[in-house]
Amino acid sequence: MNSLEHLIHVIRQVIAGRQLIDNSNKYRIMCLVTAFIHLIFCISMGAMGADILCYYNIFIVYMYCVLGIFVSAKKKFRLIMIFFFVEVEFHSSLATILLGSQMGFMLYTVALIPAAFYLANSLTNRNKHARYSLMLSVFVIVVYFTMSILAPGITPYYDISAYPGIMTGLRYMNIMIAFILELAFSLLFAQESRYMEQLLENENVKLGVEASYDPLTRLHNRRSMTKYMTDEIEKNKDTDTDFCIVMLDIDDFKNINDSYGHDVGDKVLVTLANIITEEVRSEDYSCRWGGEEFLLFIHGDKNQTYFVADRIRRKLEDTVLKNKYDGTFRVTATFGITQYNKFAPLRTNIDDADEKLYYGKNHGKNQVVS
Ligand code: GH3
Ligand code: MG
Ligand code: MG
Repeated sequence: MNSLEHLIHVIRQVIAGRQLIDNSNKYRIMCLVTAFIHLIFCISMGAMGADILCYYNIFIVYMYCVLGIFVSAKKKFRLIMIFFFVEVEFHSSLATILLGSQMGFMLYTVALIPAAFYLANSLTNRNKHARYSLMLSVFVIVVYFTMSILAPGITPYYDISAYPGIMTGLRYMNIMIAFILELAFSLLFAQESRYMEQLLENENVKLGVEASYDPLTRLHNRRSMTKYMTDEIEKNKDTDTDFCIVMLDIDDFKNINDSYGHDVGDKVLVTLANIITEEVRSEDYSCRWGGEEFLLFIHGDKNQTYFVADRIRRKLEDTVLKNKYDGTFRVTATFGITQYNKFAPLRTNIDDADEKLYYGKNHGKNQVVS
């Protein structure tokens, strides 16, 4: 992609609300466009012999180039913003006084109100956005009113009637640019808000997903598991669907932590979580209930569930794990299964699975109790 194609691509993305222009580029483009407009003023004024305006515009073209190239790179956005507002208002008023109000220079004021809201948004201190937008808008309105009162009583300093072509061209250019700028600032402001809204929405979705999973094992956590089980039970309350709850707990996990360290303990948890994920079907649900305890919600009766649980138990028992001293070790887990009784609360069903688990713990561990 050459740089022109890239620029067009970026402009399209910005218009579609899919990308933001970063502040340095935003201010750079604004200063350089303004410098270009002032360059046209400078040439027109020179051609009509309006020397004060011509010299002023030479100076201002230089100023905007400095601001656009050096100051925006230094991220002094507030300075550029205030300079821009004061300069546009000053130039509009000066040109109105020197050339007459029929030239339409005060129209630039129209574009400055959406610009106040758009540009103030780029300031880092979010609390100041509204204050700056309003302050700049009030400034613009006050200058416009003052000029509306003063201008009709002032005889233009320059008589430019000898240049009807330039006069007409400049007047139409002022009208057109003022409205294009107004449109551009309003559009960019709207698109920027849409982009931010979309960003926030995406972040919310991500946070929602994050809040449902255990960060270590990537299994569901107790919160999302409880919600899932409650929903599933509610959905099936008038059917004869069999469910089983399996509670499982790693045997002597404290010893593993004590012997090999917490990191190795964490790896054991991840290993078991992976085995569980491989062994349960997609319609079943598994979670890290807490610590080294896992809970499974299995569609099926006790016998079917026993096979699932025992497959997990055997696979864990057969897995050779590495400790950090280049040695190996194995772990086992104990399982308690209860067939879901829809006439008892969920909590009671879970406690029942827990009791079976503790029966297994007290009778030799590494077994499935149903
Ligand atoms: P039992 O066979 O009776 O279950 O004995 P146990 O040692 O597994 O049980 P106990 O409840 O005495 O110890 C559980 C240990 O699990 C203690 C705790 O430090 C550890 N543990 C809990 N959560 C984590 C974790 O996220 N990572 C690691 N590495 N260890 C954890
Ligand atoms: Mg344990
Ligand atoms: Mg435990």
